Amino acid sequence: MRIVLLGAPGSGKGTQAALLVEELGLPHISTGDLLRSAVADGTPLGLQAKAVMDRGELVSDDIMLGLIEERLEQDDASGGFILDGYPRNLAQAEALSDLLQRLEKPVDLAVQVVVDSEMVVARIALRATEEGRSDDTEAVVRNRLRVYAEQTAPVAGYYQQLGLLSSVLGDGTIEEVFQRVMGVIRSHSPD
Ligand code: AMP
Repeated sequence: MRIVLLGAPGSGKGTQAALLVEELGLPHISTGDLLRSAVADGTPLGLQAKAVMDRGELVSDDIMLGLIEERLEQDDASGGFILDGYPRNLAQAEALSDLLQRLEKPVDLAVQVVVDSEMVVARIALRATEEGRSDDTEAVVRNRLRVYAEQTAPVAGYYQQLGLLSSVLGDGTIEEVFQRVMGVIRSHSPD
């Protein structure tokens, strides 16, 4: 199954993606992780992306398309994937549809984890202490939430128009949210 996970920074989407990977045996493709490893490796792409990420802005659509195209063409993605952090705006959503159409592997389902913004700020503050991410300071978090509202939130509407969107509430325990996500996935599974 080819699943796109949507949700604001701090919605718990990354945690849910990791649980889904275990449950469904599909690769977790996180563009944030791909970028962070490029930064850690000091590749030219990583050097270019770091300043943008540290401001909480979006890395350019061209760079992201190259990155995601290379990743989706790897063998382990041929049987499906959990996509986390892409698409982040409407142009990326359209580029992804074109790419997956070319690969004859369209998105089956987009799952949106819906949370309120106070919960998001609290969760991100916690993650900042746990993981020490350089883009988790308060000012940058605020900017990331603004970028999300302006550019990423419309992506849910894009998938809704295609009849592919399901939303679940992101409050409660990790396990409760996971059961909601799995409920949606089961109801869309062919078997
Ligand atoms: P994430 O781990 O998904 O929160 O991503 C961390 C940062 O990486 C974001 O704030 C962006 O700067 C960058 N990033 C991740 N995915 C994308 C994307 N699809 N398009 C543009 N920038 C991205």
